[in-house]
Amino acid sequence: MSEVNTFQLVSVVIPVYNEEASLPELLRRTLAACEQIGSAYEVVLVDDGSRDRSAEMLTAAANAPDSRIVAVILNRNYGQHSAVMAGFESARGDLIITLDADLQNPPEEIPRLVKTAAEGGYDVVGTIRMNRQDSFFRKSASKVINRMVKRATGQEMSDYGCMLRAYRRSIIDAMLQCQERSTFIPILANSFARNTIELPVLHAEREHGESKYDLLKLINLMFDLITSMTTAPLRLLSFVGGAIAGLGFALALLLLILRFALGATWAADGVFTLFALLFIFIGAQFVGMGLLGEYIGRIYTDVRARPRYFIQTLIRQNAESSSVEKK
Ligand code: UDP
Ligand code: MG
Repeated sequence: MSEVNTFQLVSVVIPVYNEEASLPELLRRTLAACEQIGSAYEVVLVDDGSRDRSAEMLTAAANAPDSRIVAVILNRNYGQHSAVMAGFESARGDLIITLDADLQNPPEEIPRLVKTAAEGGYDVVGTIRMNRQDSFFRKSASKVINRMVKRATGQEMSDYGCMLRAYRRSIIDAMLQCQERSTFIPILANSFARNTIELPVLHAEREHGESKYDLLKLINLMFDLITSMTTAPLRLLSFVGGAIAGLGFALALLLLILRFALGATWAADGVFTLFALLFIFIGAQFVGMGLLGEYIGRIYTDVRARPRYFIQTLIRQNAESSSVEKK
């Protein structure tokens, strides 16, 4: 696993959306940090349909003589994770680092990420934000989600919101094979990773501009995140339906017993019987929807066309003697 201990080329991928105020400092600090890595590097900046001068600034930076900057300009705003995917497509490094453009995660940590990935042979190096500078609401939302993701991907990671991360080429290639439109990159990456680790990093407050996520975008991101790991909510319909129908049935039974034991007046002349029937039918409808959900869930997983499995390493001696290769 740790056969590749140095990297030929390290790519840094940064999504940029209306960040003209942060860009000069971002470029300066990122390039300075990359100089410390000790191997060749490129910085891929993806303009996610900015309406300020970000795109022109990136173009100029990429066109400068001997520039290590690659500018990828998207025609409109596709969202952070799609922008990063676009950056992956253009990145050629065998280790790829993602970073936010707003300097909340210090670019100075890049050399440490590269070193950790190389020395430990890790596929994914994540980071945990110490002293996280976000609102209480966002922090607690993150906590719930982290717990869910742990169960879905089997990888222990406590901070999925932090985009300062390093991925090996194999992980990036696997992610690029996935056909899905809505992705949450750290989770997708972890579903292909074998060795992961998290480093503590500092988290700064946003200096320029505002968070590019309003409530609507956050909710959207939350749905991307949940649907990217599970179709369990669809299954929930069947359970809820089963429970409602069961309760309705129990109520009907209870009414029947009471009717015989206490007489017709007790059962309010059949009003409650109607309720019991209603519950049974509502429950049955839910079960029906849940059944549809099961099929939709399967269609969804097939449409995403994620690689069915991901071979980390293949070890085989004397290749000639074994002619059958399983794929
Ligand atoms: N971003 C993007 N497209 C978007 C929203 C955000 O490329 O539609 C970029 C943004 O420029 C920044 C990163 O994604 O580099 C994270 O955004 P932000 O700092 O606003 O998110 P927060 O730190 O509030 O989670
Ligand atoms: Mg930010």
